[in-house]
Amino acid sequence: MEITDINATKISNESWGEFIEFPLVTIMSKYEEYRNVDGENPQARRKWMGPVGDVVVEVETDAGITGVGVGNWGTGAIATVVEETLSKIVVGEDPTQREKLWEQLYRATLPFGRKGVAVMAISAVDQALWDIAGKEAGKPVYELLGGPTKDEIPAYASNLHPVDMETLEREAQEYAEAGFDAVKLRFPHGPEAGRSGMKENEKVVETVRDAVGDELEIAADAYMGWSVRYAKKMLDRLEPYDMAWVEEPVIADDIDGYAEVREAAPMPISGGEHEFTRWGHEDLLEAEAVDILQPDVGRVGGITEMMKVADMAEVHDVPVIPHAGTNPTLHAIAAHTNMPMAEYFPTPEWFQEQQEEKESTYADVIFENPPSPEGGSIPLPEEPGISTQLNREALEHFAVE
Ligand SMILES: [Mg+2]
Repeated sequence: MEITDINATKISNESWGEFIEFPLVTIMSKYEEYRNVDGENPQARRKWMGPVGDVVVEVETDAGITGVGVGNWGTGAIATVVEETLSKIVVGEDPTQREKLWEQLYRATLPFGRKGVAVMAISAVDQALWDIAGKEAGKPVYELLGGPTKDEIPAYASNLHPVDMETLEREAQEYAEAGFDAVKLRFPHGPEAGRSGMKENEKVVETVRDAVGDELEIAADAYMGWSVRYAKKMLDRLEPYDMAWVEEPVIADDIDGYAEVREAAPMPISGGEHEFTRWGHEDLLEAEAVDILQPDVGRVGGITEMMKVADMAEVHDVPVIPHAGTNPTLHAIAAHTNMPMAEYFPTPEWFQEQQEEKESTYADVIFENPPSPEGGSIPLPEEPGISTQLNREALEHFAVE
């Protein structure tokens, strides 16, 4: 089998609908014009994220099999790297030589790569190569990764946003009733909101804890919007709520800061969603910066690299709960003993209703078959490949030049 062509399609983040407009603290919240407090500045995130949301990469072969991979939460520059640089390496090659091709792509992009866009592009191509392998074998990819290590994939409901407290409470209860064992919320504020912001951050956690009771795990995400000093103070305050983890308290490059926060925090600290390759993740592990590692299959270097990072983390006794439970991610989780759980983004009922009224759209609209849990767990995928099926109509509608 030989790779004959490779295409990258840029998809507008309009395909995420108004999902991107929820109020939450982000890495840009330090600056007022990028803050969306109480939903009053809904365009705050669009000002710095996008306009491209996802890049869909399709690798074609002379066997008539096409593999699909997605570079997400990024930039259209992923498409440029795929089409200008990666295509030169992979076209004409055997798509089953994944290890060799991965290293060639990594070395060829190293002068401008190592982290960021180049590795996101490699990640998408790697997913597509696994998809081809699965489709050729007629098996889901986890079968090729060593077989399933679980009968189903436990998932946590990760869509709690700091909207009004009544809605938050209702939504948290819905997830508990649906059978999820864990939920994740987002903090509304960072250091710039001072003591009243701290109070509101605490209120969000308290509301969810009261809503779900003692049985459920609660995690929360700071999306790199805090400083070390703020994180230490804020997390002390949250001790009574017995949290499963607090995610990305500081910027991804502040590994010493992570370690300092982790040392002081009364709950586990997670990170790695914005880290790249085995080398980047090794730095986090070596510094004992995290209790839970969260590589993203679209950033870490694809499924090939995700499995290596999970092996490394196992040596450090650090579980891997990958960022974003996309279809390719589920295959890695199914196959690895050190990946206990998937992130799952339910569409909040109240949000779905709002969207329908506005005839708007929602994230995942470009996929035909987003993961769908039953009773808090996602059944093992059965389709050959990485089970990403594209909605061609949506793809065309949201494609940008
Ligand atoms: Mg996160």
